[in-house]
Amino acid sequence: MEQTLSIIKPDAVAKNVVGKILSRFEDAGLRIAATRKMQLSRADAEAFYAVHAERPFFGELVEFMISGPVVVTVLEGTDAMIKNRDLMGATNPKEAEAGTIRADFAESIDANAVHGSDSVENAAIEIAFFFAQKELS
Ligand code: ATP
Ligand code: MG
Repeated sequence: MEQTLSIIKPDAVAKNVVGKILSRFEDAGLRIAATRKMQLSRADAEAFYAVHAERPFFGELVEFMISGPVVVTVLEGTDAMIKNRDLMGATNPKEAEAGTIRADFAESIDANAVHGSDSVENAAIEIAFFFAQKELS
């Protein structure tokens, strides 16, 4: 059974649409293996997005991710990684297909509602960043 990591970002948590977003995952046949609401520290956000450290938007990305609580979730199911990416829609919500999470809940490329692992390999790294093995059903 494949697993992937989702983060509901501070903008979507502030909008009180956590349940609506988690329902999209369940309605698509994914299961919630683990979930937690938490406030990321600056060090957490910098480490999590380390692959983007050299990008011009890295500072803003880190500031945004620590601007309020997030909900980190492990999703499980057949083709969980790509299913989650399809449900999310394009990084820029203005380019996201109608009916996707970003089209429906996101405002801008910075405040884009959700993160999702972009490969099965990265999913394993990102899940281990947030969850202990005993927390994963
Ligand atoms: P995420 O990794 O959050 O799931 P993604 O995989 O769709 O999003 P990435 O290319 O990994 O997109 O970028 C990580 C995050 O950095 C994006 O979600 C977005 O918030 C921010 N970002 C990406 N490109 C830009 C940009 N050109 N300007 C501002 N912010 C950006
Ligand atoms: Mg990404």
